[in-house]
Amino acid sequence: MKSQILLQALGPVTNNILKMLETALPKRFISSSFALASSLELPFNAFDSSRKQYVSPEIISFIHESCNDARYQKILGICDVNAYSGRLNFVFGEAQFRGRIAAIYLARLREEMDDPFDERIFLQRVVTEAVHEIGHLFGLQHCSSSSCVMYFSNSLGDTDKKGSDFCSACKTKIIRA
Ligand SMILES: [Zn+2]
Ligand SMILES: [Zn+2]
Repeated sequence: MKSQILLQALGPVTNNILKMLETALPKRFISSSFALASSLELPFNAFDSSRKQYVSPEIISFIHESCNDARYQKILGICDVNAYSGRLNFVFGEAQFRGRIAAIYLARLREEMDDPFDERIFLQRVVTEAVHEIGHLFGLQHCSSSSCVMYFSNSLGDTDKKGSDFCSACKTKIIRA
């Protein structure tokens, strides 16, 4: 049976971002189907006003508490904000390893472009981060191949370089998961 994955926007996320994910993700996770939920408000208590960033684990807990629809085995939160987690100054995304909830944070994905803003590069980064976090939900760990989506990216340069596809070893693991 296909696993059902819910795409849950929190706060304002433009439609072209959501449509891009809805189109791109089923190509990487062929044994899953994806549905788009109507958007929820971002939880204001997850905002750290001293850092002007959201606290990623708080967002993950909020999604866990708010999305109880038993039809969905996994949920990807999509938040167009800047977030951090633990000792990390910022995160592009975070996932419960082999768990149910992941989230991606888009605000920083607009940075470090040669042009002022290239939407194609931005959307590609969004897909890459989404595939990476869903990969963790399915139990994939970080991959040592710098051209695999499961490579740990420390910078947008890494994200752009690795792209949104699994290496052959990780692809096999995803099919078995
Ligand atoms: Zn990771
Ligand atoms: Zn890999």
